[in-house]
Amino acid sequence: MSKTLQSVRGMHDLLPDQSPRWQRVESLLRRVASAYGYQEIRMPIVEETALFKRSIGEVTDIVEKEMYTFEDRNGDSLTLRPEGTAGCVRACLEHGLIHNQIRRLWYIGPMFRHERPQKGRYRQFHQFGVESFGIATPDVDAELILMGARLWRELGLVDVHLEINTLGSAAARLAYREVLIAYLESHRHRLDEDALRRLHSNPLRILDSKNPDMQDLIEGAPRLMDHLDEESLADFAMLRATLDAAGIPYRVNPRLVRGLDYYCKTVFEWVTTHLGAQGTVCAGGRYDGLVEQLGGRATPAAGFAIGLERIVALLEQQAPVEAPEADVYVLTAAPGADIAGLCLAERLRGETPLRVMVNCGGGGLKAQFKRADRSGARLALILGEDEIREGRVTLKALREELPQESVPTGEVIGAVMRRLAP
Ligand code: ATP
Ligand code: MG
Repeated sequence: MSKTLQSVRGMHDLLPDQSPRWQRVESLLRRVASAYGYQEIRMPIVEETALFKRSIGEVTDIVEKEMYTFEDRNGDSLTLRPEGTAGCVRACLEHGLIHNQIRRLWYIGPMFRHERPQKGRYRQFHQFGVESFGIATPDVDAELILMGARLWRELGLVDVHLEINTLGSAAARLAYREVLIAYLESHRHRLDEDALRRLHSNPLRILDSKNPDMQDLIEGAPRLMDHLDEESLADFAMLRATLDAAGIPYRVNPRLVRGLDYYCKTVFEWVTTHLGAQGTVCAGGRYDGLVEQLGGRATPAAGFAIGLERIVALLEQQAPVEAPEADVYVLTAAPGADIAGLCLAERLRGETPLRVMVNCGGGGLKAQFKRADRSGARLALILGEDEIREGRVTLKALREELPQESVPTGEVIGAVMRRLAP
């Protein structure tokens, strides 16, 4: 017996009843990004493994255990992208997009991480990412945050809170690193396996640990904030002043370090309490060192990525209306009505923005009305025997108590628009 095939664990189909919500989110993201002057870039889903190792960092969750890496037929090591920033920088360098110029870019698409699947955490998930290159000042950090705030507002999401922190310059981080290592060394016996492994390779990441047994230790650690350089502190103050002026509430979270190696200075997350443990819907920050690290000229950069599954889940909770599949449903119950119905629907689609569904496949009027109801359409157009004989169409409201109306075929578009115009 053949086994029924299923989708790969942690990788999900997106079914037709969910797609209206996805489409709404995606079109809003596109519109808002372009309202801030950001342009779309599309990168391949597969990149050389070395790109992610060099950018994300060897000692990170992603590179250590989450990448889908495979050998190509010619022996090259390739990886399904776990995030978009690395590929975006690679593409910009390859095509000279950020050479002595400012670039504002966005992208959308699937990302892949081999994590334990759970609510809000999948092996194939989708991100909308935004990157800005060539601007070193914190005004662009603020711009990115303002864009996020606008997105939540326009999507109608509430309870999405902003957390910010600054990681300082690379030099300040290096100095702080030594202080932190000394502190952690002195409490070595309380470190878990992950922390021990990272103690010298990536000690800041230990602060990000979710192990409850280590929370006291983390609380008591020296603070990066107390070891920062002047410039980072001034930039952070400027960012805070801008957010205050723009009326964007935030919380400074000194424990926010972000999982990826390439961040410096401003980092931020948008978090909600409505999605359980997977509450971060957007994460970003500044990564001034990455372009140079990948072989380009030193270029300041900042960006963020939104986890779309989590946004859609929030929308489902906060705005659970079902989107109709059609505005108009055409019923065809007479010889020749099927052809007349298809032609009528073509005219409607050509001359109005309405979504028109034709009852294909026959069936009695009762069955057709049931389908019309299920489609969510507000208006039925009926082509029965009388209508076909007399060259007329009957209009019947499906969601309101309104009298039926019969009009000559030539006047049907005007009649439909009168009924459905807002
Ligand atoms: P976490 O700490 O939750 O693992 P992360 O730091 O790995 O998050 P980022 O790499 O910053 O996450 O990704 C940006 C956003 O992408 C996250 O805030 C989240 O919304 C989303 N995201 C990350 N990993 C997943 C996943 N496996 N499934 C669904 N969404 C994800
Ligand atoms: Mg992660």
